[in-house]
Amino acid sequence: MGSTAGKNWTEEDEKLLLETIDKWVENEVKPIAREYDQEDKYPHELVESMKDLGLFGATISPEYGGMGLPASVYAKVIIKVASVWMAPSGIFNSHLIMASAIERCGTDEQKTNWLPKMASGEFRGGIALTEPNAGTDLQAILTRADRNEQGYLLNGTKMWITNSMYGNCLLVLAKTDLNAKPAHKGMSAFLCQKNEGYEVSKKLKKLGYRSIDSCELTLVDKQVSSDALLGGEEGRGLQQVLGGLELGRINVAARGAGIAEGALKMAVDYAQERETFGQPISQHQAVQLKLAKMATRVEASKLLVGSAANKFDSGERCDMEAGMAKYFASEAGVFCSQEAMRIFGGYSYSTEYEIERFYRDAMLMCIGEGTNELQQLIIAKQLLERNKG
Ligand SMILES: Cc1cc2nc3c(=O)[nH]c(=O)nc-3n(C[C@H](O)[C@H](O)[C@H](O)COP(=O)(O)OP(=O)(O)OC[C@H]3O[C@@H](n4cnc5c(N)ncnc54)[C@H](O)[C@@H]3O)c2cc1C
Repeated sequence: MGSTAGKNWTEEDEKLLLETIDKWVENEVKPIAREYDQEDKYPHELVESMKDLGLFGATISPEYGGMGLPASVYAKVIIKVASVWMAPSGIFNSHLIMASAIERCGTDEQKTNWLPKMASGEFRGGIALTEPNAGTDLQAILTRADRNEQGYLLNGTKMWITNSMYGNCLLVLAKTDLNAKPAHKGMSAFLCQKNEGYEVSKKLKKLGYRSIDSCELTLVDKQVSSDALLGGEEGRGLQQVLGGLELGRINVAARGAGIAEGALKMAVDYAQERETFGQPISQHQAVQLKLAKMATRVEASKLLVGSAANKFDSGERCDMEAGMAKYFASEAGVFCSQEAMRIFGGYSYSTEYEIERFYRDAMLMCIGEGTNELQQLIIAKQLLERNKG
């Protein structure tokens, strides 16, 4: 895309962008998806085309060189990518969660130093929160950041970190005060470059979401300067990363909706080609019932994603809406890919068809950005808070 500096997104711009994404997905993502997934091969060439498309700056403000997409448009981009191959969306999604934390919470200097390079894709990042012993319960992390003359010394192990091998920077959550009570008051976030002290201990083998570098990472006496402390103030790290989760959840919801839509499309096509008892299986009522349930969930997911994104764009609090969208759309992804597997019968089990990848990829959406169990707790808590008896 061309320069978007100072841009207000009109319907025409949105249409043009989505057509460009359609072409990219059709011409560059779809042709390599199956081979790369099966070989767990990183799609370096897609990273280059993502740079050209401006996707690394999709939600970064134009003043820092990004496209400044509203969440509602960004979610449509994600749905399109995930309806063909969910994994590559993680390359710019995790990166943009880091960028959003810098834009929301960084000092002016951090914004100027990091965001233009992130928007162009020169810096490609992610977020390093989870540890071997702590995912949902982030206050239990053990990574520590000890003050020294040059800034902070980071030590610890991070788990499942997307973009940690092929990216070149991360936002790392660590403890600056091990004895703080409550624990989150002793937690801080650091902008780290991939250099001395940053070691990828292993690339993790996964059921799905293959091709993407989800790794275990060790930080061994990793020296960062004081400027690396996000927002320049200790004790705000957990709030800073959790503050980005509404957008993160809308992203994951969009990925779930995309998986659901892609699985439905494959099932509809296959059901009209495959014949049993002298007619296409689409004519059997049992198959039609599946298609109807899938199509309804796809539509409902997209509506929930759109409604949460619109609320986010209007600046309103939307943790309940983003939680509902994430919960429903990710379960729709699982449901639709499972139902599509049944419609494909024995061929669903063959790697010659792509539906098995959707089935393997879908479950991750129920886990990432807060498990669906946690989403339900958030939804209920908000519901009760907004409707006090
Ligand atoms: C492929 C992949 C990529 C990932 N990428 C990243 C990344 O880039 N950066 C990053 O930081 N992390 C990443 N993660 C980690 C992910 O965010 C965590 O796996 C997730 O938050 C869950 O944490 P956990 O695995 O430790 O599960 P746990 O926290 O151990 O939870 C286990 C089970 O207990 C339930 N549970 C826990 N607490 C409660 C509670 N209070 N009430 C009810 N139920 C509860 C959970 O819902 C779940 O069912 C990734 C994970 C995967 C698999």
